[in-house]
Amino acid sequence: MNHTTEALRQAFLRYFERQGHQAVASSPLIPQADPTLLFTNAGMNQFKRVFLGEESRAYKRAVTVQKCVRAGGKHNDLENVGYTARHHTFFEMLGNFSFGDYFKAEAIEFGWEFLTKEVGLAKDRLWVTVYKDDDDAASLWKRIGMPDQRIMRFGEKDNFWQMGDTGPCGPCSEIHFDQGTAVPGDDRPNGDGDRVIEIWNLVFMQFNQNDRGERQPLPRPSIDTGMGLERLAAVVQGKHSNYDGDVFAPILHAIGTRTGQRYGANLSSDRSMRVIADHLRAIAFLVADGILPSNEGRGYVLRRILRRAARHGRLLGVSEPFLYDLTGSVALSMGSFYPELRAAADTITEVTQGEEERFIATLDQGLPILNDMVAKAKAAGQPVLAGPEVFKLYDTYGFPMDLIAEACREQGLAVDQEGFDRAIDEQRARARKSASFESEAVSPMLAELSARVPATQFVGYERLQSESVLQ
Ligand code: ATP
Ligand code: MG
Ligand code: MG
Ligand code: MG
Repeated sequence: MNHTTEALRQAFLRYFERQGHQAVASSPLIPQADPTLLFTNAGMNQFKRVFLGEESRAYKRAVTVQKCVRAGGKHNDLENVGYTARHHTFFEMLGNFSFGDYFKAEAIEFGWEFLTKEVGLAKDRLWVTVYKDDDDAASLWKRIGMPDQRIMRFGEKDNFWQMGDTGPCGPCSEIHFDQGTAVPGDDRPNGDGDRVIEIWNLVFMQFNQNDRGERQPLPRPSIDTGMGLERLAAVVQGKHSNYDGDVFAPILHAIGTRTGQRYGANLSSDRSMRVIADHLRAIAFLVADGILPSNEGRGYVLRRILRRAARHGRLLGVSEPFLYDLTGSVALSMGSFYPELRAAADTITEVTQGEEERFIATLDQGLPILNDMVAKAKAAGQPVLAGPEVFKLYDTYGFPMDLIAEACREQGLAVDQEGFDRAIDEQRARARKSASFESEAVSPMLAELSARVPATQFVGYERLQSESVLQ
């Protein structure tokens, strides 16, 4: 078969339709009526109430290509982006679902058939993992022809899936692909490197976890699967990195042209280009779904993503706004499957430009101070940047925490998270005491834009601002 990303999306949908699944459209990135979730982080989110037995649908099997963002909350990959070959903030998740219909045996058979027959992945490159005491899943894999030595058992961290602190969950079985010795890193699933990469998670949905952490059985055992489309595309296209797949090519090309860099020429500029490419996609999709930069909740995540991309632009020598000019490359690459990117093209450009302009003033002032603080800490032999200094960058100069932490990481320093948390708590206490709040002046352009997009509300995640790479 044709191995473009577009062909893989269609092959997945059509294969599962042939197996009796209803194709359902992706839900928006803002979870609908679920205040426990910051962003849609998996295909199953839109079916949460169906798994819980609170809602029924006309179908018992579904297949989706779901827009996901993992940049906050339980699943947060923001700091991985740029550093691994397989993590994005925005990505597409392919998924098939059974609502009390088929269970482990069919889920495993479908997964195996799709990968080895439809897509044609070599069987001897595949590994599988199962939850530590899930003998059923292990024997189903054996029956299908997976040799014992490529079936591994893991505990809660890797083989028990939860969408968040509460909600549907269950043990899972994952399929990994060995990219071979050309890729440095571990030659086993769930290691640190990118050699054997996880491509597909088959979740055996069996429980609902409540807010006291207790797990109650679901009305009917169900199936939820998720496979990263970018990872599948990379693997079938014989690329070791998601960023070498066909979807990223036009985006990286546009970044290269604008910044005068060549992707592949240098490790650190490559990292910056990957960060920018990833973040451009997240920016475009988040704004298209109605999110605007702000100081809290979802808007703050968008602001962090935008500012991180802008700082990486600086690292590539671009000090004027430039991201806004590149957002079109995302629509070029992905707009035919996601028409919302084309519909919102002007808004995406305007929002990005406005935020870049605001942040550039901040960067001009704050970067020399940050660099100076880091140099002094290093000269004094300190392993961390002290909490009060981190707080000053955050509070006075508007540097998101993860941006400070990353700039430190590049120089071999950690940040003093505890000291920073203390400083933020003290500031909150002072604010409460004075009991008068000044709201941030909203620029006329943002006010006008926010009138154009649907309102968003998020109540389940309050500690967002002090989240850091150290957690
Ligand atoms: P990893 O261990 O690589 O971080 P995960 O176990 O957190 O992945 P799952 O929650 O099991 O991922 O999600 C299902 C699938 O979605 C994964 O098997 C992978 O193919 C894909 N995926 C997960 N996170 C990302 C990401 N940040 N970027 C791209 N694809 C992802
Ligand atoms: Mg992960
Ligand atoms: Mg994993
Ligand atoms: Mg997983």
